[in-house]
Parts: sequence; structure tokens; C-alpha cells
Amino acid sequence: MDIQTRLVHAGEETKVDGAVVTPIFQSATFGSAEEQTYDDIRYLRLSNTPNHQLLHAKLAAISGGEAALVTGSGMAAITTALLSLLQSGDHLLIQDCIYGGTHTFVSQDAPRLGMSCDFIKGNEPETWAGKLRPETKAIYVETMTNPLLEVADMEAVVAFAKEYGLVSLIDNTFASPCNFRPLEIGFDIELHSATKYLNGHSDIVAGAVIGSGEYLEAMTHKLNRLGGSLDTHACFLLQRGLKTLALRMRQHDANGLELARFLSEHPAVAQVNYPGLDTHPQYERARRLLAGAGGVVSFELHGGVEAAEQLVAGLELAVSAPSLGGVETLITRPATTSHVGLSAEERAAIGVGDGLLRVACGIEASVDLCADFAQALVGAQAGG
Ligand code: PLP
Repeated sequence: MDIQTRLVHAGEETKVDGAVVTPIFQSATFGSAEEQTYDDIRYLRLSNTPNHQLLHAKLAAISGGEAALVTGSGMAAITTALLSLLQSGDHLLIQDCIYGGTHTFVSQDAPRLGMSCDFIKGNEPETWAGKLRPETKAIYVETMTNPLLEVADMEAVVAFAKEYGLVSLIDNTFASPCNFRPLEIGFDIELHSATKYLNGHSDIVAGAVIGSGEYLEAMTHKLNRLGGSLDTHACFLLQRGLKTLALRMRQHDANGLELARFLSEHPAVAQVNYPGLDTHPQYERARRLLAGAGGVVSFELHGGVEAAEQLVAGLELAVSAPSLGGVETLITRPATTSHVGLSAEERAAIGVGDGLLRVACGIEASVDLCADFAQALVGAQAGG
């Protein structure tokens, strides 16, 4: 069945007392006389309440994976997956311009546990083999990088991982399974900050890992010990949010494209990054692999940081806040939010300028969104 149908019907099997919607099983523990192993115990931290099990089934079904695991945040999904796959002494190849939290984890926390990494350019596959070591175990990219919207050579990642026996991981948050299903082209592990599009309403923090049963079993055991499980109340909200993902993504995609076009024609704007624009360096790849380019657009103004701050202050619809994937449009300056953990030199090296703005389009009417930016740009131009 189409993903739109799977989003509504997969993982909805319990019809408790005829309820069409699965209720929240707000119980930390469940009575059972048949425990054989620690993992058979039914306890909320072990991610095995009915709310978890149904959510796992829905996520696996929409992404085409054998199994799935929800976590207490996107970072819990990423760190649990990496800590499950890598041990002390292991080495990781990871794309350079990735989410700031992931960047900080692999460059600052993982080395303290004896793991090392080398950063790679997502679009220079010819340079990857030069960074391989005998202890390299995995390769990690994002579908669209945050905040520059670079589309990695994902087919090359899969081929490279197969050639060198590496596990391939992809953070698919920016595309969502509606716009891209990485497991279908051969990735081993799909990761999400479910805080974003999957839930879609900016009211929970959650994460998801999807892949083969074998990997997911190991990651579930790791999560059981690390303790970053998702509360059942948040499971319920995520299950509800997922049902409308396809509808929401259509509007996010449409708004992203309209706003990117509007900004790229505006005289105050110096640069727009959006893979749905035919001026984007990976436009052809995005068109071939992605069903839509999503709702995130980043751009720089000729007036730099000062003009960027004036623009943000002048917006009436778009809310100044980090995050993305919710129904309301958000705007942020990554140098002060998602990438503040990186030094100015590290930010410059990956192309995140101090004046760069990132807009996460919501599902408002695009005409209103563009009108809001038009009026705010008048002030920013005058000031900048
Ligand atoms: N991955 C990407 C691409 C993100 O944008 C984010 C958060 O912004 C994360 C992971 C981390 O997710 P969370 O905030 O749910 O821990």
C-alpha cells in the first residue's frame, strides 16, 4: 500500500474495547509471570509497552524496515545507534556539515570512549577511501545537511559501505520517509529526530531508528541500558502525528519551494540554499531521489548579521526559534543555536556563516509566508 495509507493504518492493531485510536498505556510496569530474561520484563524503559510496540510497527512499515525503535530524542537515537555499532578503538567516517549535536558528540564525546572519526565531504566520494582505516566500521551522512541543505551522494555511500564492509547510517530527519526512504536504496540504518516532521507539531522531543531486526535488537539492548526511552504519552502523540505526515509534507514541500523562489529573486538576498531550486548544486540528484525538497530553506542577506537580525525581528508570522518540521514556520540563526557548540573556525570550515538564516516552513499558506518575509525584508534592507 502507498505510504499515505501505511501512515494511517500500520501499527494500529490494538482495538481496546473498540477504541479506534490506541489509548495511552500510562503504566511503568506490567504484570507477567513468564519472564525468562531481563528483556522479557515489561517495563516502560525497555520500550515494550503496547504504545511502543505499535509505534515501532508503524515506523518499520512506513520506512520499509524490518524493525524500529523510538527513543527519548533524536540525539538519543543517534548516540544509541553509534554506541551500539562502535566500540573503543573503532573508527567512523562522517559527513562534515551535519547537525551540531551529532558533530559535537562524534568529535568531543566519542573520542573519550576510545572511538575516532574522520569528517568527509558528502559529495566527494573519490576522497573517502583515503580516510579508511582497518578499524573503520561505519559511514554516516544526512539526507540534506543542516543548515546548508547539501544533498549527499547517497548512492555512493551505499556502494562504498558495501565495498568496504561498513555499516551505512543516514539521518533522514530533513526528508522524512515521505520524501525519501533510504532503506529502499540500501542504507542499513535510518535515523530521525522524530521531534521534527514525524511528530510535526513541535510538542514533543523524540527519536527513531529503523533498520534490520539484527541491528535493532542490539540497539534496543543498548537503549535499555542507556535509558533514553520515550515516554508512552509522547509515543501516543507521535503515533497521532505520523498519521498526517503525508498531508503535512506536501504543504512543507510547497512552502519551501515558494519561499526559496521568492527569496532567490529578492535584491536583499545574497544566497539561497534549497535543493528544489534548479540553481542548487545537487538539484538533479534531489529531483531523482527525493519526492520533495522539504520545508527548510537557508539563506544569507547582503547586509550580514545585522540585516539578518533585523529581518528576524521584523517577521510577524515566522517565530524565532530553533527546530523544524512543525506546522508553524520557525526561523533561526544557526551560529547562535544549532551550531553554537562549534567554534567559529569549525563553523567557517563547514560553510555556516554567522549571518546565515534557516527557515523551517510550516504549513501556512505560502502566499502569507512570502508576504511576511517581503515586509520584514523592507526593514532589513533599510537597516542593512
Ligand atoms: N538530527 C537533525 C538533522 C536535527 O536537526 C536534530 C535537531 O535539530 C537532531 C538530529 C537532534 O534531534 P533532537 O533535538 O530530537 O534530539
